[in-house]
Amino acid sequence: TRAVVLFTSDLRLHDHPPLRAALAAAEEVVPLFVRDPAVHAAGFDAPNRGAFLADCLADLDASLRRRGGRLVLRGGPVAREVGAVAAESGATEVHMAAAVTGFGHRREERLRESLGAQGVVLHVHDTVVTAVAPGRVAPSGSDHYAVFTPYFRRWSAERLREVCPAPRAVPVPDGVRGEPLPPRPAPSLLSPGLPAGGEKAGRERFARWARSGMPAYEDRQDDLAGDATSRLSPFLHFGALSASELVQRARAQGGPGAEAFVRQLCWRDFHHQVLAARPEASARDYRTRHDRWRTGQEAAEDVAAWREGRTGYPVVDAAMRQLRHEGWMHNRARLLTASFLTKTLYVDWRIGARHFLALLVDGDIVNNQLNWQWVAGTGTDTRPHRVLNPVVQGRRFDPRGTYVRRWVPELRDVEDRFVHEPWRLPEDRRARLGYPAPVIDLSDGLARFRHARGRD
Ligand code: FAD
Repeated sequence: TRAVVLFTSDLRLHDHPPLRAALAAAEEVVPLFVRDPAVHAAGFDAPNRGAFLADCLADLDASLRRRGGRLVLRGGPVAREVGAVAAESGATEVHMAAAVTGFGHRREERLRESLGAQGVVLHVHDTVVTAVAPGRVAPSGSDHYAVFTPYFRRWSAERLREVCPAPRAVPVPDGVRGEPLPPRPAPSLLSPGLPAGGEKAGRERFARWARSGMPAYEDRQDDLAGDATSRLSPFLHFGALSASELVQRARAQGGPGAEAFVRQLCWRDFHHQVLAARPEASARDYRTRHDRWRTGQEAAEDVAAWREGRTGYPVVDAAMRQLRHEGWMHNRARLLTASFLTKTLYVDWRIGARHFLALLVDGDIVNNQLNWQWVAGTGTDTRPHRVLNPVVQGRRFDPRGTYVRRWVPELRDVEDRFVHEPWRLPEDRRARLGYPAPVIDLSDGLARFRHARGRD
């Protein structure tokens, strides 16, 4: 007997229940990944993520080869390709993990229809993307939690499924046609400081970080210059690491750092359960504030300055340049740059979200769109009117200006006390820096935002 295992957002061998189920049910399995042009059409395949994906697929293939198998890669509409692989290999069943996004649900429906017509059984296993499946916990009278803290309480009490080990052997039948693995996109299209992907790299990073970073994570998670977070987000995005396994390993290690890390992983699940219940929130306001966002030439110029890291606010510019260079940004930096765009410049969150998605190696429709909405005050933030002041944020989370100087070399020689407010330098020194003046006066931005939201 033969079975197909369809890999999607779960590019790993450890803790992969669909693979385990297929191996238990059949003598041979076809591990399959399909490059569907619909992903391209939906605009999800930014070059930075393309490179990370290529690494993940190469690593998965190498791990399968060590176990006597290989990864079968196909290109084309997913339902057609899965059907064709099932027919070519003589498989009678297909195993995959449940989707968590609208895009994934539509894929599942198409597969169910076409495989059914072919007489092939589709087994959809519980999701392996989140630790707790979206919808599993809900408050009475609603289909999802809109507030994080009560969700966290309920989520923490959930029993997680046991982590399953990677299989020792994966026998794959001969004669199933596959395409060569995709190469990384050309370096000129990529952020130069992009990390390498793959399950092996992810497991090594977690092991290292659990030893040396996690114990101090609670105190250091907002330290911009210290760069003390796990940087596991791209591995989680592609499912090279299992969120459920990380939660369980962190809990087993214990301590305040591990607890704070688990709490962040819960944020990831929280946003997933919101979007599962409100799929339209990927594009539309979760809660409308009747915003009439700025448009027109002047707004377009402000957006360009924000994207390019030349707003004249050092910590904002440092963060935006880091994003371009690494395809990644620290969470605190994401918060303050998103607040700057949506609240200080009063520009539509969708414009910012699109720019992030074009560059972020962990760029994710769930976490990106819902975090943007959270910051813009159109999402689940219970304090939607708070505005982050970039000078205050800079002084607090980058007190010596180390992060700013790392990414904004124009300010390298500026003293600590001016590094977040270079406009306070004497005029002649300021002019020599070659660093722009602020695009907006913070108090003007605040007044406009308060007026727009009816809070003045
Ligand atoms: P750590 O601090 O080590 O946290 C561990 C893990 O917890 C992360 O890898 C991530 O999976 C999860 N996590 C942490 N914070 C959040 C959060 N606020 N929401 C959801 N999950 C979280 N994260 C993405 O994975 N993809 C995105 O596209 C994305 N876009 C964002 C956009 C904005 C405007 C904001 C404010 C946040 C966004 N985040 C996104 C969340 C967060 O910034 C990143 O997950 C985090 O910075 C990744 O770095 P890390 O792995 O070192 O995190």
